[in-house]
This record gives sequence, structure tokens and C-alpha cells, in this order.
Amino acid sequence: MAAKEKLEIPADISDIYEIGPTGIPRFKLFVGGRWRWSSSGDFFQIRSPSTRNVIADVAKGTRDDVLDAIAAAVSTKDTIRSIAAIERIGFLQTARDLILTYSECIINLMMMEGGKTRDGAQGEIHAATERMRLTIEEAKQIYGEFIPGDWVEDTRNKIALIIREPVGVVAAITPFNYPLFSPIAKIAPALISGNAIVHKPATDAPITSLILARLLQIAGIPNGAINVVPGPGGDVGDTLIGNERVNAVSFTGSTSVGLTIPCKAGMKKLHLELGGKAAAIVLEDADLDLAAEKITTGTIRNSGQRCDAISRALPHKAIADELARKLAARFQAIKAGSPWDADTEVGPLINERALEKVDGLVKDALQRGASLLAGGGHRELVYEPTLLDNVSLDARITWEEIFGPVLPIIRVKDDEEAIEIANRSEYGLDSAIFTNSLYRMWKIAKALQVGTVTVNDLPTHGVGNFPFGGQKRSGLGREGLRYSIDELTVIKTISINLEPAGMSKKIGIKRS
Ligand code: NAP
Repeated sequence: MAAKEKLEIPADISDIYEIGPTGIPRFKLFVGGRWRWSSSGDFFQIRSPSTRNVIADVAKGTRDDVLDAIAAAVSTKDTIRSIAAIERIGFLQTARDLILTYSECIINLMMMEGGKTRDGAQGEIHAATERMRLTIEEAKQIYGEFIPGDWVEDTRNKIALIIREPVGVVAAITPFNYPLFSPIAKIAPALISGNAIVHKPATDAPITSLILARLLQIAGIPNGAINVVPGPGGDVGDTLIGNERVNAVSFTGSTSVGLTIPCKAGMKKLHLELGGKAAAIVLEDADLDLAAEKITTGTIRNSGQRCDAISRALPHKAIADELARKLAARFQAIKAGSPWDADTEVGPLINERALEKVDGLVKDALQRGASLLAGGGHRELVYEPTLLDNVSLDARITWEEIFGPVLPIIRVKDDEEAIEIANRSEYGLDSAIFTNSLYRMWKIAKALQVGTVTVNDLPTHGVGNFPFGGQKRSGLGREGLRYSIDELTVIKTISINLEPAGMSKKIGIKRS
């Protein structure tokens, strides 16, 4: 395993690091088009979730580095905005091709940095490059609107053009769980609509973002249009969010951090994609094999480290025993282990803190009377796919985000109880309903307080063809091909008075 965990970056993109005194690569920051060390000269370590070996050191950005990056973005924002859109599209197209060219290196990196399975990392390359391709297509449709004034007496003498403009400087802050897709879902729409970006990746998985920046640089993006400053959220993230020269914050991460952003950000555009607690409601008439299969996948994908993971099953009592049996058979058959083993479906959690959180939630549920149908243990950071039945409403796992491959079953007596428990959560991101009854599905879907309801499938958002985002404490705004562009642009109304052309308000049919 250790031999496979040697970080290898192809020579033609290798100016982003140097080999340090211990023989381990040391990665630089990317500010104003230059690869450089942190102003403090400090580094932080990246440990592989599989082996816990240190695989790299990364320059630890400081407040001064963030200020430099913001200054670089501010001085480039007019340049990137003035470049013809078709040229910006060209940069993204080239960067996309480069990601595919270097995909083997990026897959290995994501397996090492994030403990992803090979299938998971390959899937992320596919989703990220598709997201880029489709963002390019969507960008070609940003034309704005023409509104005739003579629809309303008040504006009879006017016409208006409604145009979309870049916000200026975007702070893009991303979590560890999708270290390629999440940055691309922010950087691609931001760049294509003419913004400059300062990106802060997660401290647990920042190297993928540095490679992405290098590929954008090779693709020809102007110096300063993309800056990457890894470093602690409390320093780098806070400085970015609070800075007056930053015009928009696009943040994906936990609700606990997200809740602090609005008061620190002041008057900026905010796009917040936060935590989730998806409930899968299973009615008596559901296809239970389908439900068991989809709920299992929805729980264990990326080792459960997804905001849209199914983290509560709410089956009707009448079918709960049968569903629990089918789920248990599936959970027991899942192969959990090293991401380097070809048949592994569930790899390690990101770090010890994540493991303690997941294990604490499982133990609390068992102490409060839940029964264990599968899993419950762990080897190093690999948490076994775990199924808990008859979980009580006072268990923490019923309400808290799990972010691990664990499913609590909470049996419900009717549709109303399912809706009530699903909605009692502080989160409102995703949910699923399994049924063959159109009318009951519709009634429940309308009652759920979430951004997305998925019927007879697991919640999955793919490349962003449908809008995605949360209600309640799951966030503000919407991700998606068109929607992400909307979040990173502002609408400007240009209203033109036609009176100088002789078209006065008074023209028109006189009412008797
Ligand atoms: P996290 O701890 O909230 O971190 C997310 C990002 O915020 C990281 O870059 C982090 O930096 C930074 N950060 C931490 N403290 C900060 C502060 N005070 N100011 C500014 N930035 C700060 O989340 P995570 O553990 O990486 O990711 C898991 C969470 O993300 C889950 O709750 C999951 O549901 C959510 N998520 C949501 C979506 C969605 O689309 N709704 C998608 C994916 C993940 P450090 O790494 O340096 O702490």
C-alpha cells in the first residue's frame, strides 16, 4: 500500500512544489500568477487517510498572503471581465482537456489525499470535466433580457435592457469531500462570467486545487484571475470573508461554519451550500428491493461523506421488518477497506475527528436502545457500513449530520409522522420518497421542507443539470449549471428614456 502512496506529479506541472528536507514534496501557494511560499514560511502536513503517513507539506497561507491574493484579484478583475467571453471559454476548454490528460495523476492524488476509492475518484474526474463542458454550453446562453416599457403606463416612454455582469472578486471556499468537483463548481462559473477568484481549499485536501490552478495557468488564464491560498479556515477563510474588496462569498461546507458567515461578510453576495440530513421515507406500497438498493448506495457513497447522503430511513411500520432485512443483507455484503484494493466500496473517513464523531453517534444510539443490524466497528479510519434499527427520537444520530457510512432506521406509523420527523430537522437539503402512489408522493413532496425531493431514487446531483441547494440551515442560493452563474453575477437594468425620440408618455389611446 505504502509504495502506491508515493505522490508523483508529472514534470511539466511540477513547478508547484519542491522536495523538502525530509524527501516529501512541499507545495506552494498561487498568488498573482506566481508560485511562492507562505509569508510566514510555515507549512502544514497532509496525511493519507489510508496509512496516516505524511504525503506532503503545504505552505500555510497567512492573513498577509490572503491580502496579497485579494490585491492580485482586484487588479485583474477588469482584465478578465474585458476579455471576450469566447476567449474565457477557450481557457476553460483547454483546462478541461488538461485535467483529462493528467487524470491518472489527479486520481492517485485524490485517493491519497482524500482516501477515495478508484471508482470514486474516476467518477469525480468525470463529473468535474462534464461540469466544465456544460458550464461552457450554459455560458453561451447568457444574453440578458429586453423588457418593453409600454406594458405599463408608468414606463410607456421607456425600454429596458437587463444584463448580467460579473460580481468582481469571488471568494471560493470548499470542503474536503469533493476536492476537484467542488472547486470546479465555483471556479468554472465564476471565470466564465468574468470574475477573479481567491480560492481557499480545505486543509485536509488542498493539493488537488493547486494542480487545478496550475492547469488553468497553463491554459492561459491571466495572472491574478485565479489565486489559491490553502491555510486554516479561521485565518485564511475569515480574512477572505470579511474583506471589503471581496464582492461575493461562495462557500460549501458545514452548517456550523456557514452560520457564522453572514455577520462576518457584511454586504456581499452570499452563496452558502451547507450540511444535510436526508430522510428516505418508505411507504407500504414501495418496491422494497429498489428502496433497499438505492438507500444503501445513498448512505455509503464516498464513505457517507456527502451532504446529500441518506442519513435516516423512515419506513412505515408495516414494511419496516422486511426493509430492514433487505438493507441488512446489503450492508453486510459491502466491502470496506483500503482504497487501493480494487473491490473496496467504502474507504476511510478523512481523519480521526470524523471517526470519533461517527463512532460517538453510533454508540449513543445503541445506548438509547437501537439494535445493530450491521457493522458498528472500525479498522483505523475505515468505518464499517453500519445499520441501526429502532433508533429512538432522542438519539443524537436522528438529528445530527453523520458524514459516515451509517444508516439509522426510525419506524413511523403513517405519512404524517414521517413528514413531521423529516421536517423537525434543522437541515433542509435533500430527501427521498419510495412509493408507487402518485398522490401520496405529491402530498409528502409538497410538505417536505427541503431543496430537493427525489422519488424512487437516492438523492444525486450529478453535474448540476437540476438546481441544488438548501432550505433552513442547509444554505442560501442554488448550485447548478445556470444557477451557479446566476449566483456569481449581478443583474443590471439599463432603462432608456425614449422621449428624446418623440415617444412621450402621453402617446397612446385616450380613455374616455
Ligand atoms: P467545514 O469544516 O465547514 O470546512 C469547509 C471549508 O470552510 C474548509 O475550507 C474550511 O477550512 C473552511 N473554514 C473552516 N472554518 C472557517 C471559518 N471560520 N471561516 C471561513 N472558512 C472556514 O466542512 P468540511 O468538514 O470540510 O466538509 C463537510 C461539510 O460540508 C458537511 O457539513 C457537508 O454537508 C458540507 N457540504 C455541503 C455541500 C452542499 O453542496 N450543500 C457539499 C459538500 C459538503 P479548513 O479545512 O481549514 O478548516
